[in-house]
Amino acid sequence: MNDAVDWARDLGGGTRVSLVQAGTFRSDAGALFGPVPWLLWNRWVTDEIDHENRLLQALNCLLIETPAGRVVVETGIGERLDDKTRTMRAYEGPWIVAALENAGFDPESVDVVAMSHLHFDHAGGLLKSDGSRAFPRASIVAQRAEWEIALGDNPRLVASYIQPELQLVRDWGAEGWAEGERELLPGVTAIPTGGHSTGHQAIVVRAPGSRPLAFFGDLCMRPWAANPRWVSAFDDFPLDSVMVKASLFAQAADEDWIVVLSHDRDQPIGRLVRDRDRFRYEAD
Ligand SMILES: [Zn+2]
Repeated sequence: MNDAVDWARDLGGGTRVSLVQAGTFRSDAGALFGPVPWLLWNRWVTDEIDHENRLLQALNCLLIETPAGRVVVETGIGERLDDKTRTMRAYEGPWIVAALENAGFDPESVDVVAMSHLHFDHAGGLLKSDGSRAFPRASIVAQRAEWEIALGDNPRLVASYIQPELQLVRDWGAEGWAEGERELLPGVTAIPTGGHSTGHQAIVVRAPGSRPLAFFGDLCMRPWAANPRWVSAFDDFPLDSVMVKASLFAQAADEDWIVVLSHDRDQPIGRLVRDRDRFRYEAD
């Protein structure tokens, strides 16, 4: 395995999934734990909390290679933010294109860019610093509902999107609008979930004879998110998150899916197991 690939697995049938981490940033710890009291969550994060009470968040992206083509899942924060924002978010690259190239992948070979949703830390890498497309041959697949809310005018909902950047890729994105479940390539499916954002979707990869692999996006950022009731304050529709997590995580646990966390740096690959009335994440 190439040293620059953070994790990779052959699922069989010519399908291979590689984890590529497009840098790190920091998010407010209390906001990440939403309604959960500090007394319950502080033991999870003793080492990584900084003097501004923030947690280290990796920008986990996937490259899915199949006989029918290549899918990139997520694009991270990218390289188009100004210095002030870069400092404020404690963002450190490499951004997605550099991370893919370091790992030996050519962004021009990508057929589909699948976005769990369009928040700034997922959609920032669609354009290069000069404004050209980072994935020139690819279609972008996100839910139409996500585009509409991201470019809408609800002041609470638009706070996590960078609208001027999304406007620049809107026409490109519109070509790949999904309305409901969409098979991106044979064996690779986008499944609408809502919850974290209006048009949030999960990506599931199935190959013959293999455990399915799931990327639940920001419904499952970090190990503690395995508890359906532990939703972040960044979830726009937290009650929807709880419901959809409970049903998707039950399937993932019962069928022993490989689970990739969206923002965990050190233990991003694992599985969900049933634990009383909830689930527990066990890292590989
Ligand atoms: Zn995120």
